[in-house]
Amino acid sequence: MRKQNRNGDYMQKKPDWLKVKYNKDAVDEMSKLMKELKLNTVCKEASCPNMGECYSNSTATFMIMGSDCTRNCRFCNVTCATPIQLDPDEPKNVAEAAKKLDLRHTVITQVTRDDLADGGAAHMAATVLAVKASCPDITVEVLISDLRGNEDALKTVLQAEPDVMNHNMETVSSLYSKIRPQARYERSLKVLSDSKRFAPDILTKTGFMIGLGESREQVEELMDDVLATGCDILTISQYLQPSNEHWPVERYVTPEEFDSLKETALQKGFSYVVSSPLVRSSYRAAEALDAIRLEAKSS
Ligand code: SF4
Repeated sequence: MRKQNRNGDYMQKKPDWLKVKYNKDAVDEMSKLMKELKLNTVCKEASCPNMGECYSNSTATFMIMGSDCTRNCRFCNVTCATPIQLDPDEPKNVAEAAKKLDLRHTVITQVTRDDLADGGAAHMAATVLAVKASCPDITVEVLISDLRGNEDALKTVLQAEPDVMNHNMETVSSLYSKIRPQARYERSLKVLSDSKRFAPDILTKTGFMIGLGESREQVEELMDDVLATGCDILTISQYLQPSNEHWPVERYVTPEEFDSLKETALQKGFSYVVSSPLVRSSYRAAEALDAIRLEAKSS
């Protein structure tokens, strides 16, 4: 029987291109280690379809500052609840996990902590520094909240010298009030432009989902606004509804349309674009960094 979402609309059947097998052993190994070290991965929280591939490529994304968020974005599977006290051991535990997994690239993301004056910036910076200290060859990407536009907090994160500063735009401006009500389109753009202003050598990256109800024009407008911040790397992915309680999928976008969006973004001037139905903001993150650094070396 076809499932219906909370608006009573029939849920569209997932197309074949969204069906993936994943490498259960890699996922189980990762889950066991995460449990031991009392750590969270956004991979598990978001039921990411790429877990197996990422883990087998020695990349993983750690979600720090607990598993409860102070915001309630309509597309996100993370619980909105009163967050826990920050765990002072978390930076060293993430560093230990990165070492044990022999990671070559790691993404450190966070739940949004509007309850903290600096939005958790000092804790994020401490985690980056701990990982870099215990794994000298690793590259580190931070995927941060908008820190409520706090410039000093952003500087704190950048002073830890992550290799990539990532902040997701998530969707087009006209859908913010419905889908991401506690965020502000202009504020998120400012996180990207401020990052370039404060630390021009750190690559910036953002990502958004499609299939939420946006038009092609709106997507291209978003690309232009992001490019104007000096952003280097862009990821475009298919929105997948975590549960009936979440925002409904408006449509499943074809792989061909993802390819055409990639071409458009590259023609507009992005240095590196990852665009396909199963992409997530950390997907192939290491490859993006390698490709841009190689390009910089050869030019
Ligand atoms: S702020 Fe981030 S973690 Fe929190 S609900 Fe929104 S997308 Fe999810």
